[in-house]
Amino acid sequence: MGAIQALRGTQDILPTEIGYWQQIEATARDIFAKAVYQEIRPPIIEQTELFERGIGEATDVVGKEMYTFRDRGDRSISLRPEMTAGVVRAFIQHSLGAGVHRLWYTGPVFRYERPGAGRQRQFYQVGVENIGTQDPRADVEVIALATQLLQDLGLKSLKLDLNSVGQGEDRQRYREALVSFLSPYKSELDKDSQDRLDRNPLRILDSKDKRTQEIVGDAPSLLEYLGDESRQHFDRVQQLLGDLSINYHLNPCLVRGLDYYTHTAFEIKAESLGNEATVCGGGRYDGLVAELGGKETPAVGWAIGMERLVLLLQQLGEEKPPKLDFYLVSRGDRATAQALVLAQKLRYFGFSVELDLSGAAFGKQFKRADRSNAMACLVIGDAEAENQTVNLKWMATQKQEAIAQSQLLTMTDTLKKQMKH
Ligand code: ATP
Ligand code: MG
Repeated sequence: MGAIQALRGTQDILPTEIGYWQQIEATARDIFAKAVYQEIRPPIIEQTELFERGIGEATDVVGKEMYTFRDRGDRSISLRPEMTAGVVRAFIQHSLGAGVHRLWYTGPVFRYERPGAGRQRQFYQVGVENIGTQDPRADVEVIALATQLLQDLGLKSLKLDLNSVGQGEDRQRYREALVSFLSPYKSELDKDSQDRLDRNPLRILDSKDKRTQEIVGDAPSLLEYLGDESRQHFDRVQQLLGDLSINYHLNPCLVRGLDYYTHTAFEIKAESLGNEATVCGGGRYDGLVAELGGKETPAVGWAIGMERLVLLLQQLGEEKPPKLDFYLVSRGDRATAQALVLAQKLRYFGFSVELDLSGAAFGKQFKRADRSNAMACLVIGDAEAENQTVNLKWMATQKQEAIAQSQLLTMTDTLKKQMKH
């Protein structure tokens, strides 16, 4: 029997890569805390109906990509294909209520797609939702959080695309204009776009098909159909982005297909990712809370695909090796027992300590100490064990000294300074 492999489109995140993930998570937590966004963790499985209503059956995500199954109680359950629907369901279910709610999340999501670089069937998202205000400052606040996160991670040359999809009547009028413009070309559109002409015509605007793109290039622009209120909202968003010196490109083909998406839509792209260039997608969804059975509540948010961020960080090639204070080398029964105890005590005092468990010759253990990136190496052999001492060697200078084990533990403040804690 062969060994079992991970499912296609899923991946193991190995210790060799985990540094990038932890860097992203730590940076995100820090930025969210400073803007007083609080973490929320909705479940991974939900009633299928939540996603049908919250994302829309006409979307690819729900129509074609969802992992749906019947559980043993014959309920239709789906693995979440994104997090916003679950967050909004939780918001309604727990009556989080009036005022502005600033939430963030991270976790795995699932979509049955064709896997490739930056495209998987289980992938991770990190995202924010700002629920409770229609103020354009909220749109700009969330965009600023996304750009700050990417910047703090050292990612440059990313492009922010911006659009407004208007609201209610504006979009209804635009939709009609678009359908009447596209209908004569129906047979020339790609297959998906032909289907969308009735169900979800706005989505045709971001078709990746070449000929469809050419046709769409001459279509009327959504921006010309914005009513006064939408126009004002969009102007204010652009002005505030300017005040924050956040560069953006207007992209009238950037859309969110469904009716509860309103006003601002945006995406952040990295050319260096090729086909799967979109790192962050977001926008305003003033109609969603009501669509899911809550009180009419405006909201805006975004989601970032973490695998794509990891690819970008790998392109930068700047992973920092994990920091290690002590590498502890020992040999012989008494020595190894003392080393185990010393390691645990040093950890208690706040140091990171790697204990060599190989039992190999000292020479081999020293080689591993060299490779470990430790600040210092501690050695206990038979002689040290006998005298309850330890040999401390600083890796950078190769300076050595013999110290009583008990004394080492009273010098922790001095050691911490030398190790730049
Ligand atoms: P795409 O056009 O790349 O399919 P999308 O519009 O489906 O993206 P969203 O639903 O807006 O993506 O999800 C937000 C982010 O999640 C995307 O910008 C992307 O970074 C990431 N993402 C989406 N699908 C996948 C996937 N299958 N594998 C990895 N990351 C993904
Ligand atoms: Mg997609």
